[in-house]
Amino acid sequence: ADLALYQAKTDPKEKCVQFQQHMRLLRDQHLAIKKDLERAIREHEFTLHFQPIACTQTDRVISAEALIRWQHPERGLVAPDDFIPVAEETGLINEIGEWVNRQVCSMQARLAEMSLPLPLALNVSPRQLSDPDFVSKMKALPMETGCDPSMLSIEITEGVLLGDIPNALETLSSLKEAGYRIVIDDFGTGYSNLAYLHNYPIDGIKIDRVFMEDVEAGGAIVKLVLSLASALGADVVAEGVETIEQRRWLSENGCHRFQGYLYSKPVPEDRFLSMLHTQSRIATM
Ligand code: C2E
Ligand code: MG
Ligand code: MG
Ligand code: MG
Repeated sequence: ADLALYQAKTDPKEKCVQFQQHMRLLRDQHLAIKKDLERAIREHEFTLHFQPIACTQTDRVISAEALIRWQHPERGLVAPDDFIPVAEETGLINEIGEWVNRQVCSMQARLAEMSLPLPLALNVSPRQLSDPDFVSKMKALPMETGCDPSMLSIEITEGVLLGDIPNALETLSSLKEAGYRIVIDDFGTGYSNLAYLHNYPIDGIKIDRVFMEDVEAGGAIVKLVLSLASALGADVVAEGVETIEQRRWLSENGCHRFQGYLYSKPVPEDRFLSMLHTQSRIATM
């Protein structure tokens, strides 16, 4: 029996059939998710959670990142990693992203009205940036929602700067001109070609959470990123901070902004707002 199994695994013909079956399954799943996503857009099944970005020295919330969730009628709350890739491949990300951007801009305007002038960050994927209408839609949002674009960071990944996107420089420069901040997300996980950085109008760098392990090992790489950012005049946020030791290290090494489960997981809007209200009550006591 063992031999039969062995042969089945190694027989190239059999392998080919297995591969084709696997591909068919993937394609079917892909199609199913696509249909599901189309309904989700129609039925408004998306929601945003907010994860605070806090100060390593005062422990106060200084900003927040908006992160999409899909409130699926059967599957419950679905994480972005389980549907953003399909949304990207199918192009549905453009419509979903438009909704996200409008929500986040309106939220920033509402916070300002509540005397909580807090900067917010939103994520934009490569496919969104390559949409020829992206810039004009972003330019219209301050008028449409009353937001202040200088209080909004657009998070992009390193790949965007490395030639994946035609006209990346032009697109980012226009967004910058419109007043938005440009921030590199998951920094250090791309090709780490540092030469391109100074060509782009970058306001901030988010150090990927994999580097929190480096912090535990002395933090040589994180120190390097901090000095690089300082040379570029960019702010730094450390992502994925989970321990007090990591936060202490960041504080002692001049990294003032952190985000991670240690402070808070991403939370629904009402919980995020009550965090802010509590904080501002304490501040005025
Ligand atoms: P990201 O922008 O790098 O977001 C950070 C991710 O790390 C979030 O996962 C967050 O929940 C998670 N995280 C935060 N703190 C910790 C921590 O201390 N430990 C660990 N292990 N993880 C932590 P999430 O919300 O599942 O989002 C995953 C990715 O999906 C995001 O990565 C972003 O690339 C993408 N995404 C999320 N929302 C949107 C959106 O509205 N539009 C687009 N285009 N992409 C989005
Ligand atoms: Mg992000
Ligand atoms: Mg990130
Ligand atoms: Mg990420």
